[in-house]
Amino acid sequence: RPRLRLFDLPLDVIDLQGTLTLLGEWLSDPARTPHTVVTLNPEIIVQSRQHPEFAQAVRDADLVTADGVGIVYAAKQLRQQDVPRAPGFDIVKGLMERHGAELRVFFLGAKPGVAEAAAQNAARDYGVTVAGLHHGYFGPEDDGRVARLVSESGATLLLTAMGAGRQEVFNQQWRGVLGVPVMIGCGGVIDVLAG
Ligand code: UDP
Repeated sequence: RPRLRLFDLPLDVIDLQGTLTLLGEWLSDPARTPHTVVTLNPEIIVQSRQHPEFAQAVRDADLVTADGVGIVYAAKQLRQQDVPRAPGFDIVKGLMERHGAELRVFFLGAKPGVAEAAAQNAARDYGVTVAGLHHGYFGPEDDGRVARLVSESGATLLLTAMGAGRQEVFNQQWRGVLGVPVMIGCGGVIDVLAG
C-alpha cells in the first residue's frame, strides 16, 4: 500500500474497509505474528515532536492510518494527497462486527473500572470473547508485568488506550512479549465502548 511522510512520520493511504481486510488477515495468521497499528491524530504528531521515542514507535508501526479530518487535511495541504480516514473507533467496531466471538480482546487502558464496562458491553453487543483487561494507570516499572498478563491471555486483539504517545510506545517496545496479532493504540476507545 502507498505510504507518505507527514511531519516526519509515516502515513498509509488506506481506507476503513482496506484496513479491516488487512487486519483480518493478520488475525487469522496461524503464526500469530505480532503487528502494531497507529491511528494518527494531531496529538500524536505534537507528542512525537517532543518525544523522539514516540516518533520512533510510529515509524516502527506496521500500519499507520489517518484517525480524523485533521490528518486528512494536512496530507492534502502539505503532500497534495487524498488520504481516506480509518478512525480507531471505526476500526475496532468493524473488527468486532466482522469477527465476533472469534475475536479474543484484551482491553488495556482507561481508569479503573472502565475496561470492565467496555468489555461487558463489547461481549454483549458483538459477542467478542474477553481475553483480559487492565486499567491504564501504571508506571514503566509495571510495563513488563502487564505485558506478560496480555501475553498469557492469548488475546488476538489488544486495545491499548493509555493516552497519545504512551500507548504507541508501549505496544512497540513490548511487541515481542505481548505477541498479539493485532495491537492498536486507540486513545479514548475504551471510554467510548464503556458508554
Ligand atoms: N489514560 C490511561 N493512562 C494514562 C493516561 C490516560 O489509561 O496514564 C487513558 C484515559 O483514561 C483515556 C485514554 O487514555 O481512557 C485517553 O486519554 P486522554 O484523552 O487523556 O489522552 P490523549 O490521548 O488525549 O493524550
